Amino acid sequence: MDTMTRTRFRPTTRKVQFVDLRRQHEELAEEINAAIQSVLTSNAFVLGEEVGAFEEEFAEFCGVKHCVGVGSGLDALTLALRALDIGPGDEVILPANTFIATALAVTQVGAMPVLVDHDPETYNLDPRRLTAAITRRTRAIIPVHLYGQPADMDQIRIIAEEHGLTVLEDACQAHGAFYKGRRCGSLGQAAAFSFYPGKNLGACGDGGAVVTNDDEVADHIRRLRNYGSLVKYHHENRGTNSRLDSIQAAVLRVKLRRLDAWNDARRRTADMYRAKLADLPVVPPVTAESRDHVYHLYVIRCAHRDRLLDHLNRHNVSAGIHYPIPIHRQPAYEDNCIVSAPLSCTESLCGELLSLPMHPHMTSDDVEAVVDSIREFYDRLSSRRIEQMVDSVVTGATV
Ligand SMILES: *Cc1c(COP(=O)(O)O)cnc(C)c1O
Repeated sequence: MDTMTRTRFRPTTRKVQFVDLRRQHEELAEEINAAIQSVLTSNAFVLGEEVGAFEEEFAEFCGVKHCVGVGSGLDALTLALRALDIGPGDEVILPANTFIATALAVTQVGAMPVLVDHDPETYNLDPRRLTAAITRRTRAIIPVHLYGQPADMDQIRIIAEEHGLTVLEDACQAHGAFYKGRRCGSLGQAAAFSFYPGKNLGACGDGGAVVTNDDEVADHIRRLRNYGSLVKYHHENRGTNSRLDSIQAAVLRVKLRRLDAWNDARRRTADMYRAKLADLPVVPPVTAESRDHVYHLYVIRCAHRDRLLDHLNRHNVSAGIHYPIPIHRQPAYEDNCIVSAPLSCTESLCGELLSLPMHPHMTSDDVEAVVDSIREFYDRLSSRRIEQMVDSVVTGATV
């Protein structure tokens, strides 16, 4: 009985998923079913009216002139680089701590990724390290709004303008996030979004989009995504096949109407986490001044990361690591990227970062269960430490 009342060893039985799409789709079941049904009735499965309507709505949402729907976030980045005329011989700067797709896009167009370290607090590309990475081959910078927090765009833009560089935002984790009153996606020459199901705005399959104010870039991507053609069987470019399909567009139109409310819910969950984690030896995410955060991921810094992750996963809490191996340590990029200065933050923090469950349908009970389990881990760790110290005093050994 005694141990039952002690919260220290209360077992966590509640299952907390990393992302819970089932709850999201339950909220919208009727609307999504109707949207899919209308595509089935229309028989327009590729591009078509729903895609056009979504493109208009998402461009308006982002506060830009154009949105071009494509097959994935990776394709959005790749086609944007192609349309911005970046290719063999060019260098493109990106943060070292990002999802591999940011680098893949650069190498897919034949250019060379140049990796730059991140800021130790926000985990976003550190503008103070940009100038040293610029050479006469540098053509573009891809800031990633990592985990849902906009990068330091003013500083990045100033340096880009000084050196005549293009800025392509990787906004794949930042749908709806504001930077000084403007949405991510409207802060560079062009921006890439992913609608992978787990993103803040996710389809029921793969999807992506490029948004831009540049008429020519938008036109170019419209051709590239569709065999290099705007008029059937007339091919101006050697394009590809990467089109947003109509069912995904119809689903995205329904979900776009919820995006701001869902991002608010993520922020409330983040507030709950912050309050409950306050007395634990972990560092919650830091939002820089005049920055917004849409918490695509809720990433903490913590000691004994791998053991904590293992503990959580064994106790019904699914947590993750974003990202366990930096790009320059991946076999695919060992000889295919440039690291001009030490990536000390990336190297040291990749062993300490842990992503806790985060999605718009999390309840306070979910948050409680996650934090209880983290508390249990550190309590056990410190009581084991004390036992070891007592043992060593008894046996006369030194700790
Ligand atoms: C998800 C993601 C991508 C790639 O999107 P896909 O749709 O999966 O191709 C690119 N960059 C970042 C930062 C991402 O998180």
